[in-house]
Amino acid sequence: MPANKRVVILGGGIGGLEVATSLRHKRNVSVTLVDQNPVHIWKPALHEFAAGTIEHSGNLFSFIELSKRFGFDFIQSTPEAVERDKRQVRLANGQSIPYDYLIAALGARANDFGTRGAEEYCLFLNTLHDADTLHARFRDGLLNAKKTGKPLQFSIVGGGATGIQLAAELCQAVDSTPGLGVEARHSLLRPTLIEAMDRLIPAFPTSVSEEAKAELEKLGFDVITNDVVTQVDGDAIHLKSGRIIPSTLSIWAAGVKASQATSLFEGLELGRSGQLMVTPMLRATKDPSIFAIGDCARMEKDPVAPTAQAARQQGRYLGRIALPYLLTGRTPPSFSYQDRGAVVALGNYNAWGMWPSKKGFGGHGVGAYFARFIHEGLFRQHQYGLVGICKTLRVTLNEHFYHHADLVAPGTPSSR
Ligand SMILES: Cc1cc2nc3c(=O)[nH]c(=O)nc-3n(C[C@H](O)[C@H](O)[C@H](O)COP(=O)(O)OP(=O)(O)OC[C@H]3O[C@@H](n4cnc5c(N)ncnc54)[C@H](O)[C@@H]3O)c2cc1C
Repeated sequence: MPANKRVVILGGGIGGLEVATSLRHKRNVSVTLVDQNPVHIWKPALHEFAAGTIEHSGNLFSFIELSKRFGFDFIQSTPEAVERDKRQVRLANGQSIPYDYLIAALGARANDFGTRGAEEYCLFLNTLHDADTLHARFRDGLLNAKKTGKPLQFSIVGGGATGIQLAAELCQAVDSTPGLGVEARHSLLRPTLIEAMDRLIPAFPTSVSEEAKAELEKLGFDVITNDVVTQVDGDAIHLKSGRIIPSTLSIWAAGVKASQATSLFEGLELGRSGQLMVTPMLRATKDPSIFAIGDCARMEKDPVAPTAQAARQQGRYLGRIALPYLLTGRTPPSFSYQDRGAVVALGNYNAWGMWPSKKGFGGHGVGAYFARFIHEGLFRQHQYGLVGICKTLRVTLNEHFYHHADLVAPGTPSSR
């Protein structure tokens, strides 16, 4: 019997976990997944975790449980070196794991483009820990505003999907907290959103950008476009135009750069934002035994935007097509991206979508409901694939009927 081929996946996010679960019934292969966290997170829900509008319990997935269910090995650690000559990865926990095929699915983080003071004074939203920190800081700021009568001046840098969705979700958390509500929100918050381009969510049609801006202004945001952050301090954000925005809670939600860990792949080609450059088969351009997918990869031909949709399709391609072909000695076809459109939701206030033809929909009535339905549906579909229909239904019903944000209750994030 031929020896099992060893597939090692670094990063169990949307793309990496898709590879591991897709290889479930494949023979002659052993799969090891390495992640720094004990739980898998649907990253597009991070802003909801940060606001507290969805709960931790039920929406985080233990890697240990998933590994038993889908038949892979899980190691909680981080890579320290990729020793390509020995075909092994050295981990921070001291283990070295050999591989025949190595998959980098390490994701990305926001990019502050070296802006002075950003790293020191801004909060980011890259990990669950970031979401917990943001939740605690927002709650403390709000409680302080309530106590002193001095509104919390907070700013979000970045008018892409992450920034505007976070903005709305924080408002929704205040609106739905017992004892607070819409009036309290208007008196307790002085929020600003800053975007360097001339419109919000530039990937969407102009009409959607304009409607999203109007919706945020209705929520009380001062929306600034076409201006660039030049410096961040502990109590203000400085703009290129000379404007200074008072801000004691500043959140950086702009730009994307690959996980720092891509620098461990010595000798491989990296893109401008640190992504591993890959061929149409998603193999590293300089090493065919290494693959890269999702936000930490960039295709040299026809690159795709760093989205959940792209990471998922790439993970599925590796797990269902490329690796099974290679394991049976065949040459796989190239990866082909299918654009299925996009959706963006401003909490329960409004939502829009964009068909693959780039035509927009939503903004009011049935269209907005439909866009919001798809937005949540993508998460629930992912959840269903991991934990089955019963748990997905139970969690979804709980979110809709019993859970509400509570920004006044004291408590550590982990007790949420
Ligand atoms: C707030 C927010 C909202 C978003 N909303 C949307 C949306 O509505 N639609 C959309 O399409 N996209 C959205 N995105 C983008 C989407 O989340 C990403 O494109 C997608 O998660 C990329 O998947 P991935 O598998 O490449 O990386 P990820 O899902 O980020 O997974 C990376 C994994 O690698 C692990 N990891 C990273 N570094 C290390 C290390 N050194 N050692 C070990 N493990 C490591 C991480 O723990 C994680 O599990 C959003 C992103 C954010 C932050």
